[in-house]
Amino acid sequence: MLFLSNLFRLRRIANLSRRLIHSSAVMADLSKPKPVVAVVQMTSTPDKEDTFAQLSALVNRAKARGALMTFLPECADYVSESRDQAVALAEPLEGPTVSRYREMARTLKMWLSVGGYHEKPADADETKRIYNTHLLIDDEGTIRGVYRKVHLFDVDIPGGAPVYESTYTIPGSAIGPPVDTVCGKVGMAICYDMRFPELAVSLVQQGAEILTYPAAFTVPTGMAHWETLLRSRAIENQCYVIAAAQVGRHHPKRSTYGNAMVVDPWGTVVARCHDTIDICVAEIHLTLLHKRRSEMPVFKHKRHDLYGHVLNNSVLPIDAQSEYQFGPHTVKSSSAFYRTGLSIAFVNRKPVLPGHVLICPIRVVEHLSDLTAAEMADLFLAVQSVAEAVKKQHEVSSLTIAVQDGPDAGQSVKHVHVHVLPRKPGDFPDNDEVYKHLEKHDKNVAAREWRNDDDMATEAAVMRKYFNAA
Ligand code: AMP
Repeated sequence: MLFLSNLFRLRRIANLSRRLIHSSAVMADLSKPKPVVAVVQMTSTPDKEDTFAQLSALVNRAKARGALMTFLPECADYVSESRDQAVALAEPLEGPTVSRYREMARTLKMWLSVGGYHEKPADADETKRIYNTHLLIDDEGTIRGVYRKVHLFDVDIPGGAPVYESTYTIPGSAIGPPVDTVCGKVGMAICYDMRFPELAVSLVQQGAEILTYPAAFTVPTGMAHWETLLRSRAIENQCYVIAAAQVGRHHPKRSTYGNAMVVDPWGTVVARCHDTIDICVAEIHLTLLHKRRSEMPVFKHKRHDLYGHVLNNSVLPIDAQSEYQFGPHTVKSSSAFYRTGLSIAFVNRKPVLPGHVLICPIRVVEHLSDLTAAEMADLFLAVQSVAEAVKKQHEVSSLTIAVQDGPDAGQSVKHVHVHVLPRKPGDFPDNDEVYKHLEKHDKNVAAREWRNDDDMATEAAVMRKYFNAA
């Protein structure tokens, strides 16, 4: 008994000293300067010049307050009076308005989140619709993130005029990845997106520390839901939430709610604008954020086995990195044709049959059992999409889809991967011979005849077309 009570006492002392060390590290961090962000609340009008002048004055005020990054609301370029006007005034990414934002960021040496501008698509859309696009621009004026709003505001609320954003807006088709900025990893979203917790979870799973909801919220929905939604997203995701806002009367038919704010990961509103054109500023304490996450690790406690997993199946730009790891090998990005946040598909260096491709998780792990639930689901959704593309490209109705899990099963590359091979009648005299070939085809190192990179890039370019992959 005596021995046990001593043991408990020793453990309590060890815990206490661990906490003291941890909290003194946090205290030391608290005394260090933190990045300051500014959040803008403005009243855009249909007049682009007036709107830009207002925005420019606010961003300069933010600079004077020491902001390293300024967050602008949705419709930072203008608020239109009609659908036709919204489309007519839109500009492409290379247009003069975005160039001015980039110039401003470069001159002020400040990151900008342009929470929403009306983007004219590069390929004229026959429906004459545009994108609602959020841009992240770094302090050298380079565009570091482009997010096109995925949830469109098509609503008919009693007491208000019906709004159908989809009549003039094309929905975006990708979420994330978060952008590494001067104040943390920023997950990009826009306004109505705040009502979809799955999007926030997906961004956090991809590493977001700050969720952004630049908005032009209607007054009735703002009064009822704005703060509650923003604080909920912050608390449940243990993230900062930054919401720049439109405010006041934009033209005789449109008013917005305002209340631009910054919410910390505990759900506290740490900065908030008044009810006029204004800015507010806040410090971003990432050490505190990670402390909260380690004290209450809700993302680790999720029961994906009971309610499934939020996945991000957005197809991401493949050439954002020049090569990918495949076990001990590197695969040039030009050989790859499909990429999500977690999986990559590429053409085979020594195909058993023409069109034989491989899909693997981006993280190098040896066995299927080493994958997280998200990686597992993403990998097999990738296999499904790739399989369909292979069928179309090679005009076949059958495929061999194989995983060789472990050396005794014929796995030579110690990185989980799925083989997808198009199958044609009579391609092997005996159908299952394919497995013998899979086992042998790349094993004799001396006799290896790898294809050259150009050959592989040509095949990958053809496959990329099925995914609009860049
Ligand atoms: P396994 O024997 O099941 O581990 O399969 C390995 C597969 O990866 C074989 O089909 C190889 O031809 C293929 N392979 C190996 N290295 C590369 C590479 N650098 N690029 C593309 N495919 C590769």
